[in-house]
Amino acid sequence: MDLIDDHQLQQERSEPCPGTLYIVGTPIGNLGDLSPRAKSILKNVSLIACEDTRRSGQLLKIIKSKVPLLSYHKHNFKSRQSQLLKILESSGSIALISDAGLPGINDPGEELVHAARSNNYEVICIPGPCAATTALVISGLPSDRFCFEGFLPKKQSLRKKRLEDISQEHRTTVIYESPHQLIKLLEDLSMSCGKERPIQIARELTKRYEESIGKTIEQVTKYFLENKPKGEFTIVLGGKSNKKKNRMSESDALIKLNILIKQGEKSNVAARKIAEESGYEKKWLYSKLHKKLDK
Ligand code: SAM
Repeated sequence: MDLIDDHQLQQERSEPCPGTLYIVGTPIGNLGDLSPRAKSILKNVSLIACEDTRRSGQLLKIIKSKVPLLSYHKHNFKSRQSQLLKILESSGSIALISDAGLPGINDPGEELVHAARSNNYEVICIPGPCAATTALVISGLPSDRFCFEGFLPKKQSLRKKRLEDISQEHRTTVIYESPHQLIKLLEDLSMSCGKERPIQIARELTKRYEESIGKTIEQVTKYFLENKPKGEFTIVLGGKSNKKKNRMSESDALIKLNILIKQGEKSNVAARKIAEESGYEKKWLYSKLHKKLDK
């Protein structure tokens, strides 16, 4: 079946269907990215659940939709659930949208989809822009396998563990961050992954001042220290290299490690530096160090 036939079929299948929850992707900047199908759904469902009624009200005004809006966000999603399920029960249709992008990707949606599915209602996605996949496919980093981290935890202990996991991950990792926290994130990534790790940062995707900044953690940190981060950012971090690249003997690496520590470097920082220089695992160097110190 070619694309045109497929399109006609979609037109013939009358949407929205009763008792259906539509997860609708909305633009992350450029309004031209709202698809005709998304527009049609947003004009014809019984109700639109959205994060911020004022913000989504502006989008609906542009597309001349008169469908009522109901707030659905992280503070009220539990209490809203039964109200929304009742609409589906009475053969109504609902569109769920977020402030921007795809609901359920670091935005409310997951719980409502779960509830709708558990009650045997149809759930259909009207695909649209998503900052994570948009940044990934223009990064130039491997996109055949990747993982998504969203925002890293703020709590120190959780953050440290997450950074450690990310540093060991071989797949490309996509991270969201606010402009105020970007430099702190880059410093943390540099500490855990090393300053040479490939990275590509997408700024203001689909908007007028869209740009993409790479190539290593060291280079992008320097760039943002000179150019204050402004706007929205998605970070695409290259995975840990699979290549064996031990560049010195084990004993030379351990000697270098001990010299650094004698010179006053903290043991975890010394282990990371020597790991970078020698190609040996930081964990392995660290364990050898502790064995030596225990003796
Ligand atoms: N659900 C959304 C999606 O599908 O992309 C993500 C919502 S999350 C709360 C918002 C974060 O996504 C921002 O802080 C930023 O990290 C990223 N983001 C959203 N729009 C962006 C854009 N235009 N350019 C770069 N990153 C963006």
